Amino acid sequence: MSHEIRTPMNAIIGMADLLSEMPLNHDQQEYVRVFRTAGETLLDIINAILDLSKVESGQLTLEKVDFDLDELVENTAEFFAIRSHEKGFELNCHVKPNLPSTLIGDPVRLRQVVTNLLSNAVKFTAKGEVVLKVECDPESDDPGHLLFQVSDSGVGIPADKIDAIFESFTQADSSTTREYGGTGLGLAICSRLVEMMGGRIWVESELGRGSTFFFTAQFGVQDNPDRRALSWDSLVGVKTLIVDDNATNRLILTETLGAWGLLPRRWTTGFKVLKPCLRPKPPTSPLNCC
Ligand code: ADP
Repeated sequence: MSHEIRTPMNAIIGMADLLSEMPLNHDQQEYVRVFRTAGETLLDIINAILDLSKVESGQLTLEKVDFDLDELVENTAEFFAIRSHEKGFELNCHVKPNLPSTLIGDPVRLRQVVTNLLSNAVKFTAKGEVVLKVECDPESDDPGHLLFQVSDSGVGIPADKIDAIFESFTQADSSTTREYGGTGLGLAICSRLVEMMGGRIWVESELGRGSTFFFTAQFGVQDNPDRRALSWDSLVGVKTLIVDDNATNRLILTETLGAWGLLPRRWTTGFKVLKPCLRPKPPTSPLNCC
Protein backbone atom coordinates (compact mmCIF):
# COMPACT_ATOMS: atom_id res chain seq x y z
CA MET A 1 0.00 0.00 0.00
CA SER A 2 2.82 2.46 0.85
CA HIS A 3 4.24 1.98 -2.65
CA GLU A 4 0.85 2.80 -4.24
CA ILE A 5 0.59 6.04 -2.25
CA ARG A 6 4.18 7.21 -2.60
CA THR A 7 4.57 6.57 -6.34
CA PRO A 8 1.97 9.12 -7.58
CA MET A 9 3.21 11.67 -5.02
CA ASN A 10 6.78 11.27 -6.28
CA ALA A 11 5.51 11.67 -9.85
CA ILE A 12 3.73 14.93 -8.95
CA ILE A 13 6.84 16.35 -7.25
CA GLY A 14 9.07 15.15 -10.10
CA MET A 15 6.85 16.79 -12.75
CA ALA A 16 6.82 20.03 -10.72
CA ASP A 17 10.64 19.92 -10.70
CA LEU A 18 10.76 19.54 -14.47
CA LEU A 19 8.16 22.25 -15.01
CA SER A 20 10.07 24.71 -12.79
CA GLU A 21 13.07 24.44 -15.11
CA MET A 22 11.06 25.50 -18.18
CA PRO A 23 10.62 29.10 -19.29
CA LEU A 24 7.74 30.38 -17.14
CA ASN A 25 6.47 33.83 -16.33
CA HIS A 26 6.62 35.10 -12.76
CA ASP A 27 3.09 33.99 -11.79
CA GLN A 28 3.57 30.53 -13.29
CA GLN A 29 6.84 30.10 -11.37
CA GLU A 30 5.04 30.99 -8.15
CA TYR A 31 2.21 28.47 -8.85
CA VAL A 32 4.74 25.70 -9.52
CA ARG A 33 6.71 26.59 -6.37
CA VAL A 34 3.53 26.41 -4.27
CA PHE A 35 2.38 23.01 -5.56
CA ARG A 36 5.90 21.59 -5.35
CA THR A 37 6.23 22.66 -1.68
CA ALA A 38 2.71 21.40 -0.93
CA GLY A 39 3.59 18.07 -2.59
CA GLU A 40 6.70 17.70 -0.43
CA THR A 41 4.76 18.53 2.75
CA LEU A 42 2.09 16.00 1.80
CA LEU A 43 4.74 13.34 1.11
CA ASP A 44 6.28 14.00 4.57
CA ILE A 45 2.88 13.55 6.19
CA ILE A 46 2.17 10.39 4.17
CA ASN A 47 5.56 8.93 5.11
CA ALA A 48 4.99 9.73 8.80
CA ILE A 49 1.46 8.21 8.78
CA LEU A 50 2.69 5.07 7.02
CA ASP A 51 5.54 4.76 9.51
CA LEU A 52 3.26 5.22 12.50
CA SER A 53 0.66 2.75 11.21
CA LYS A 54 3.40 0.21 10.57
CA VAL A 55 4.65 0.56 14.14
CA GLU A 56 1.16 0.56 15.65
CA SER A 57 -0.01 -2.49 13.70
CA GLY A 58 3.01 -4.39 15.01
CA GLN A 59 4.41 -4.86 11.51
CA LEU A 60 7.68 -3.14 12.18
CA THR A 61 10.48 -5.37 13.37
CA LEU A 62 13.80 -4.03 14.51
CA GLU A 63 17.02 -5.23 12.90
CA LYS A 64 19.91 -6.66 14.89
CA VAL A 65 23.04 -5.68 13.01
CA ASP A 66 26.52 -4.46 13.96
CA PHE A 67 27.00 -0.70 13.92
CA ASP A 68 29.40 1.93 15.18
CA LEU A 69 27.87 4.40 17.62
CA ASP A 70 30.42 7.18 16.97
CA GLU A 71 29.88 6.97 13.23
CA LEU A 72 26.10 7.06 13.59
CA VAL A 73 26.20 10.07 15.93
CA GLU A 74 28.71 11.97 13.78
CA ASN A 75 26.90 11.34 10.48
CA THR A 76 23.55 12.29 11.92
CA ALA A 77 24.78 15.43 13.66
CA GLU A 78 26.83 16.57 10.66
CA PHE A 79 23.67 17.17 8.68
CA PHE A 80 22.16 19.41 11.37
CA ALA A 81 25.46 21.18 12.13
CA ILE A 82 25.22 22.92 8.76
CA ARG A 83 21.68 24.14 9.45
CA SER A 84 22.69 25.28 12.99
CA HIS A 85 25.65 27.15 11.57
CA GLU A 86 23.39 28.90 9.07
CA LYS A 87 21.11 29.94 11.95
CA GLY A 88 24.13 31.26 13.90
CA PHE A 89 24.58 28.76 16.74
CA GLU A 90 26.63 25.61 17.39
CA LEU A 91 25.64 21.98 17.53
CA ASN A 92 27.88 19.92 19.81
CA CYS A 93 28.10 16.16 20.24
CA HIS A 94 29.26 14.60 23.45
CA VAL A 95 29.62 10.81 23.33
CA LYS A 96 31.08 9.80 26.72
CA PRO A 97 34.45 8.10 26.24
CA ASN A 98 33.58 5.13 28.50
CA LEU A 99 30.84 3.85 26.14
CA PRO A 100 31.26 0.78 23.95
CA SER A 101 31.37 2.05 20.40
CA THR A 102 30.64 -1.17 18.51
CA LEU A 103 27.01 -2.10 19.17
CA ILE A 104 24.33 -4.46 17.88
CA GLY A 105 20.86 -3.10 17.13
CA ASP A 106 18.88 -1.21 14.51
CA PRO A 107 20.98 1.79 13.40
CA VAL A 108 18.33 2.99 10.92
CA ARG A 109 15.63 3.33 13.58
CA LEU A 110 18.07 4.77 16.15
CA ARG A 111 19.12 7.36 13.58
CA GLN A 112 15.45 8.13 12.91
CA VAL A 113 14.84 8.96 16.59
CA VAL A 114 18.02 11.06 16.95
CA THR A 115 17.25 12.82 13.66
CA ASN A 116 13.75 13.73 14.78
CA LEU A 117 14.98 15.15 18.10
CA LEU A 118 17.85 17.09 16.51
CA SER A 119 15.59 18.38 13.76
CA ASN A 120 13.11 19.75 16.35
CA ALA A 121 15.91 21.17 18.52
CA VAL A 122 17.43 23.07 15.58
CA LYS A 123 14.00 24.11 14.29
CA PHE A 124 12.84 25.58 17.63
CA THR A 125 16.14 27.30 18.52
CA ALA A 126 17.22 30.74 17.35
CA LYS A 127 20.34 31.30 19.46
CA GLY A 128 22.52 29.55 22.03
CA GLU A 129 23.36 25.93 21.27
CA VAL A 130 22.07 22.42 20.66
CA VAL A 131 23.88 19.52 22.35
CA LEU A 132 23.60 15.81 21.67
CA LYS A 133 24.94 13.73 24.55
CA VAL A 134 25.21 9.94 24.84
CA GLU A 135 26.17 8.17 28.05
CA CYS A 136 25.55 4.88 29.91
CA ASP A 137 22.04 4.60 31.29
CA PRO A 138 22.66 5.43 34.99
CA GLU A 139 19.82 3.07 35.93
CA SER A 140 21.49 0.01 34.41
CA ASP A 141 24.81 -1.85 34.76
CA ASP A 142 24.63 -3.24 31.22
CA PRO A 143 27.18 -1.39 29.02
CA GLY A 144 24.79 -1.59 26.03
CA HIS A 145 22.02 0.30 27.83
CA LEU A 146 22.40 3.93 26.80
CA LEU A 147 20.92 7.30 27.66
CA PHE A 148 20.65 9.90 24.86
CA GLN A 149 19.97 13.60 25.49
CA VAL A 150 19.22 16.34 23.00
CA SER A 151 19.14 19.75 24.65
CA ASP A 152 18.47 23.12 23.12
CA SER A 153 18.17 26.74 24.19
CA GLY A 154 15.05 27.31 22.11
CA VAL A 155 11.42 28.30 22.66
CA GLY A 156 10.65 25.60 25.26
CA ILE A 157 7.35 23.78 25.80
CA PRO A 158 4.49 24.89 28.10
CA ALA A 159 4.19 22.57 31.15
CA ASP A 160 0.58 21.63 30.30
CA LYS A 161 1.61 20.44 26.80
CA ILE A 162 4.55 18.27 27.80
CA ASP A 163 2.65 14.96 27.85
CA ALA A 164 0.52 15.73 24.81
CA ILE A 165 3.43 16.28 22.40
CA PHE A 166 4.16 12.53 22.42
CA GLU A 167 0.65 11.86 21.08
CA SER A 168 -0.11 11.66 17.34
CA PHE A 169 -0.94 14.89 15.50
CA THR A 170 -0.23 17.08 18.53
CA GLN A 171 1.84 20.25 18.54
CA ALA A 172 2.52 22.39 21.62
CA ASP A 173 1.06 25.49 20.04
CA SER A 174 -1.54 25.87 17.32
CA SER A 175 0.64 28.47 15.61
CA THR A 176 3.53 25.97 15.41
CA THR A 177 2.58 24.53 12.00
CA ARG A 178 2.23 27.99 10.52
CA GLU A 179 5.59 29.16 11.84
CA TYR A 180 7.71 26.00 11.83
CA GLY A 181 5.83 23.42 9.73
CA GLY A 182 5.85 19.78 10.85
CA THR A 183 3.27 17.04 11.20
CA GLY A 184 2.99 16.48 14.96
CA LEU A 185 3.75 12.80 14.33
CA GLY A 186 7.53 12.66 14.81
CA LEU A 187 7.55 12.27 18.61
CA ALA A 188 4.70 9.75 18.55
CA ILE A 189 6.78 7.59 16.20
CA CYS A 190 9.94 8.16 18.31
CA SER A 191 8.18 7.09 21.47
CA ARG A 192 6.99 3.80 19.84
CA LEU A 193 10.45 3.11 18.38
CA VAL A 194 12.18 3.80 21.71
CA GLU A 195 9.76 1.40 23.45
CA MET A 196 10.66 -1.24 20.86
CA MET A 197 14.34 -0.62 21.70
CA GLY A 198 13.57 -1.40 25.35
CA GLY A 199 13.68 2.21 26.50
CA ARG A 200 11.51 5.26 27.22
CA ILE A 201 11.44 8.89 26.13
CA TRP A 202 10.68 12.02 28.15
CA VAL A 203 11.34 15.75 28.14
CA GLU A 204 12.22 18.49 30.60
CA SER A 205 11.54 22.00 29.42
CA GLU A 206 11.22 25.59 30.51
CA LEU A 207 9.23 27.99 28.38
CA GLY A 208 11.49 30.52 26.69
CA ARG A 209 14.69 28.83 27.96
CA GLY A 210 14.86 25.53 26.10
CA SER A 211 14.18 21.81 26.28
CA THR A 212 16.05 18.58 26.89
CA PHE A 213 14.67 15.40 25.37
CA PHE A 214 15.95 12.17 26.96
CA PHE A 215 15.60 8.61 25.75
CA THR A 216 17.03 5.30 26.84
CA ALA A 217 17.61 2.32 24.55
CA GLN A 218 19.14 -1.13 24.88
CA PHE A 219 21.73 -2.54 22.49
CA GLY A 220 23.97 -5.57 22.32
CA VAL A 221 27.73 -5.03 22.55
CA GLN A 222 29.94 -6.62 19.88
CA ASP A 223 32.56 -9.17 20.96
CA ASN A 224 35.43 -7.72 18.93
CA PRO A 225 37.80 -5.37 20.76
CA ASP A 226 36.38 -1.90 21.04
CA ARG A 227 38.58 0.65 19.36
CA ARG A 228 37.96 2.99 22.28
CA ALA A 229 39.73 0.47 24.49
CA LEU A 230 42.89 0.63 22.37
CA SER A 231 45.56 2.59 24.17
CA TRP A 232 47.89 5.02 22.51
CA ASP A 233 50.82 4.88 24.91
CA SER A 234 52.62 7.66 23.11
CA LEU A 235 49.79 10.06 24.00
CA VAL A 236 49.80 9.38 27.72
CA GLY A 237 50.97 12.39 29.69
CA VAL A 238 51.27 14.67 26.65
CA LYS A 239 50.40 18.26 27.55
CA THR A 240 47.62 19.52 25.28
CA LEU A 241 46.10 22.94 24.78
CA ILE A 242 42.38 23.27 24.03
CA VAL A 243 41.28 26.66 22.73
CA ASP A 244 37.59 27.14 22.02
CA ASP A 245 35.16 29.95 22.79
CA ASN A 246 32.35 27.41 23.37
CA ALA A 247 32.26 26.06 26.96
CA THR A 248 30.50 22.79 25.96
CA ASN A 249 33.13 22.07 23.32
CA ARG A 250 35.94 22.70 25.84
CA LEU A 251 34.32 20.25 28.24
CA ILE A 252 33.81 17.57 25.56
CA LEU A 253 37.40 17.84 24.32
CA THR A 254 38.85 17.85 27.85
CA GLU A 255 36.94 14.70 28.73
CA THR A 256 37.77 12.88 25.48
CA LEU A 257 41.48 13.76 25.48
CA GLY A 258 41.71 13.06 29.21
CA ALA A 259 40.29 9.56 28.60
CA TRP A 260 43.13 8.96 26.10
CA GLY A 261 45.68 9.86 28.78
CA LEU A 262 46.56 13.35 27.52
CA LEU A 263 46.86 16.26 29.94
CA PRO A 264 44.58 18.95 28.52
CA ARG A 265 44.40 22.60 29.60
CA ARG A 266 41.54 24.82 28.47
CA TRP A 267 41.50 28.40 27.21
CA THR A 268 38.72 30.51 25.81
CA THR A 269 40.63 32.53 23.21
CA GLY A 270 43.83 32.30 21.23
CA PHE A 271 44.83 35.70 22.58
CA LYS A 272 44.99 34.42 26.17
CA VAL A 273 47.27 31.60 25.05
CA LEU A 274 49.55 33.72 22.93
CA LYS A 275 49.52 36.81 25.15
CA PRO A 276 52.99 36.29 26.63
CA CYS A 277 54.52 35.99 23.14
CA LEU A 278 52.77 39.01 21.75
CA ARG A 279 54.24 41.73 23.91
CA PRO A 280 54.90 44.58 23.44
CA LYS A 281 52.31 44.94 20.64
CA PRO A 282 49.22 42.73 21.12
CA PRO A 283 46.82 42.64 18.16
CA THR A 284 43.53 44.48 18.53
CA SER A 285 41.43 41.42 17.67
CA PRO A 286 42.23 38.44 19.91
CA LEU A 287 41.35 35.83 17.32
CA ASN A 288 43.44 37.33 14.51
CA CYS A 289 46.57 36.10 16.19
CA CYS A 290 45.65 32.40 15.95
P1 ADP B 1 6.49 18.17 14.45
O1 ADP B 1 7.77 18.77 14.92
O2 ADP B 1 6.59 17.55 13.10
O3 ADP B 1 5.30 19.07 14.62
P2 ADP B 1 6.85 16.31 16.62
O4 ADP B 1 5.99 15.17 17.06
O5 ADP B 1 8.28 16.02 16.34
O6 ADP B 1 6.13 16.91 15.36
O7 ADP B 1 6.75 17.43 17.71
C1 ADP B 1 5.47 17.75 18.27
C2 ADP B 1 5.48 19.12 18.88
O8 ADP B 1 6.29 19.15 20.06
C3 ADP B 1 6.10 20.20 17.99
O9 ADP B 1 5.17 20.67 17.03
C4 ADP B 1 6.43 21.28 19.03
O10 ADP B 1 5.24 21.98 19.39
C5 ADP B 1 6.86 20.44 20.22
N1 ADP B 1 8.34 20.29 20.25
C6 ADP B 1 9.05 19.19 19.89
N2 ADP B 1 10.38 19.39 20.07
C7 ADP B 1 10.52 20.64 20.55
C8 ADP B 1 11.63 21.45 20.96
N3 ADP B 1 12.89 20.98 20.91
N4 ADP B 1 11.39 22.70 21.42
C9 ADP B 1 10.12 23.16 21.49
N5 ADP B 1 9.01 22.47 21.14
C10 ADP B 1 9.21 21.21 20.67
